[in-house]
Amino acid sequence: MGLKLVNLNKTFGKITAVKNLNIELEKGKFLSIVGPSGCGKTTTLRMIAGFTTPDSGEIYIDDRLINDIPPRKRNIGIVFQNYALFPNLNIFDNIAFGLEARGFSKDEITGKVMELLEITGLLEIKDHFPSQISGGQQQRVALARALAIEPNVLLLDEPLSALDAKVRMEMRYEIKRIQRELSITAIYVTHDQEEALSISDYVAVMKSGEIHQYGEPREIYNKPANLFVANFVGISNILECEVDSPEEGILNFAGNIILINERIEEKKETTVNILVRPENIKLIKITDNKSTIDNILYGKVNGITFLGPIARVKVLVNERKNMLVDVANTPDFNYKIGEEVKLLFSREVCRFIPKK
Ligand code: ATP
Repeated sequence: MGLKLVNLNKTFGKITAVKNLNIELEKGKFLSIVGPSGCGKTTTLRMIAGFTTPDSGEIYIDDRLINDIPPRKRNIGIVFQNYALFPNLNIFDNIAFGLEARGFSKDEITGKVMELLEITGLLEIKDHFPSQISGGQQQRVALARALAIEPNVLLLDEPLSALDAKVRMEMRYEIKRIQRELSITAIYVTHDQEEALSISDYVAVMKSGEIHQYGEPREIYNKPANLFVANFVGISNILECEVDSPEEGILNFAGNIILINERIEEKKETTVNILVRPENIKLIKITDNKSTIDNILYGKVNGITFLGPIARVKVLVNERKNMLVDVANTPDFNYKIGEEVKLLFSREVCRFIPKK
């Protein structure tokens, strides 16, 4: 196992920062930890790095218990939000720093640094100083510096948050490519759930110090374990429905019949939550009678946000619930505020959200 956390706990006075945390991450895999501010992400990383001592629990790296090993000897590479490059050293020397401190020979250092400069695409600017390079390049230097010591685990704490949207997008794939190429076990902390879904092998969703769901990105997005995860990851329409017939998968949403495919354990008349993602709903004109589909809701367009390739349309359904629908931003898009519309979705896209 690349990294194993067993029943980790950390409190600061009355605040429980991390509660009974268990993670098992295979060697070479990429895990992202997401969650709202203050949920314990950084505390988790700091305990792995050795900067914060857990109250209880065990930390294993490559099957070795490291609780009592000081940070410098844990062989962990760390990239923080603030890159903290040495301003008086050029790029080559910034990357070489950790190797010199560990007593590698000059030839070994040159060999390793040149290889990393190549991998991270920094060869041409190796003689520049940090103040002479862009934010994205600085981020690569910080990554190369963390990788130079050939860490057993790479920890990344919001490493891209200082970059603009386009560079951020490019860098996330760079990080993933390099991590995969070098087969390093990595943990990535981010506020940005889209970033986490796009680059991770696994995602852990945390709230109030606890993991609410741990799984592959598709599983987290498609089958959220509870209401918190459903709302936190991706854009969600949550329909509060009453169970009509558990056996046949028939629910009632504000007087509308909703059919679902999933098994309902709850009894008749229990209230349950159903998730329908905006991209799984089709919007049509009120006069359009051509489509036949499992579920139809009626509403009025209440807002339109253009997001480039799609328009996110807010529809007030039954005069009580706003639902979001993603519509392709094609030349024939012609919905208007106040217009009456129909929302269509199949029973397959309705996800039952467990109450826990
Ligand atoms: P963010 O996304 O805002 O960085 P986070 O998920 O990384 O948040 P942590 O920094 O791990 O959250 O903090 C978890 C909780 O522990 C918070 O309530 C925080 O205020 C508290 N905390 C963290 N470090 C300390 C400390 N050294 N002393 C006291 N409280 C702390």
